[in-house]
Amino acid sequence: MANADLMDKLVSLAKRRGYIFQSSEIYGGTGSVWDYGPLGVELKRNVKDRWWSSMVHQRDDIEGLDAAILMHPRVWEASGHVENFTDPLVECTNCHRRYRADLPEVEGGQCPSCGTRDAFTEARLFNLMFKTFMGPVEDSSAAVYLRPETAQGIYVNFLNVQGTARQKVPFGIAQIGKAFRNEITPGNFIFRTREFEQAEMQFFVKPGEDEAWFDRWMDTRMEWHRDLGIRPEKLRFHEHGPDELAHYAKKAFDVEYEFPFGWKEFEGIHNRTDYDLSRHEEFSGKRLQYIDPGSNERFIPYIVETSMGVDRVMLVLLADAYREEDVEGEARVVLGLHPAVAPIKAAVFPLVKKDGMPELAEKLNASLRAAAIPSFLDAAGSIGRRYRRQDEAGTPWCVTIDGQTNEDGSVTIRDRDSLEQVRVATDKVTDWLSERLS
Ligand code: ATP
Repeated sequence: MANADLMDKLVSLAKRRGYIFQSSEIYGGTGSVWDYGPLGVELKRNVKDRWWSSMVHQRDDIEGLDAAILMHPRVWEASGHVENFTDPLVECTNCHRRYRADLPEVEGGQCPSCGTRDAFTEARLFNLMFKTFMGPVEDSSAAVYLRPETAQGIYVNFLNVQGTARQKVPFGIAQIGKAFRNEITPGNFIFRTREFEQAEMQFFVKPGEDEAWFDRWMDTRMEWHRDLGIRPEKLRFHEHGPDELAHYAKKAFDVEYEFPFGWKEFEGIHNRTDYDLSRHEEFSGKRLQYIDPGSNERFIPYIVETSMGVDRVMLVLLADAYREEDVEGEARVVLGLHPAVAPIKAAVFPLVKKDGMPELAEKLNASLRAAAIPSFLDAAGSIGRRYRRQDEAGTPWCVTIDGQTNEDGSVTIRDRDSLEQVRVATDKVTDWLSERLS
């Protein structure tokens, strides 16, 4: 399958099955903004819950936080975003479209839109932060920004969290939330958008211990992605060279996936040194030092950050899971999502609409839902069509109530990937599924 085809197919499947819709579609859509539908929102929540569980619930050295999107404007001066969070921008003097100057076509001198050659203006720097106003007066003293990353909310709360949670360095703070960047060239579906979600963890360590922690976090994060069932050969690290390093970073590695449009970052692991806390000390005039309770030593911790784009992980999962197969001469599309993140865990089918099968199916569906196993009852169409719909939606198991159910109380459970079918007692289906989901 050609790579461009795969992206088209993903966009179309995502819409058809209720994963992702274009924002404000009835008005013709909003540029590069997407809405998550009934299945998309489940996939997203599952990814976030799994991340939160591994970071916050399963460890005692990381605390959670949910800081506000709007922050004091000085935060963004301290962080360096007012000064440095810019992309070079050129405009085509023929069609007046604007592009990032570092796009390969633009560097080649040709306008990607109208094709005119050598008609670009000089590059100028464009700040990617969305600016708005707090309160009713629209003047510069009321200007605030929509946060372009969630990390700063963590830094300004460093001592609040450390003190109230009685944590000792080394420890971390984790947060999931929206971030906004006025990207000049958004695109590739949900890969680069102007509104997106980040799952970030900032780990505070003693200077000198930062490199060992950096290595540990690299391993931990890569393992997390592999555990999601992403094909290992499609994952790799990319180390930032000196010209790629952000102004705050001593060392940075991207976790990359081989998307249909090439190897691209979907998580960044950064050694931010003491840059952020030092700058916030300087700009706020408040001390942000940590006092070691054992030695009474005072220091500004170094920070190792893991910053994952939730939407990008979703694109990784969808692209990695998409398969087209031939099953006994019949084509099928499958989303082979890991059961832990699949939106619907089981579909329930009454084979025919008689002999009490619909009632039994409803009862089973209700008991699965009562056990918090998201399930879906489908009584419409041939059994083959019902399987195809669930295969496309990524549902790992389909449970069929059939003629034998009335005789011995068992149902058939069919596995999405192996297509194997097993018979399980109706009252054991919840346990059977729970065992496989834990
Ligand atoms: P890129 O080079 O692709 O613009 P970045 O290096 O600026 O990304 P970071 O600032 O390190 O990204 O942000 C951490 C993570 O946030 C990224 O790995 C990515 O998953 C996500 N992210 C950043 N910008 C966007 C965006 N415009 N749309 C969706 N996700 C994004």
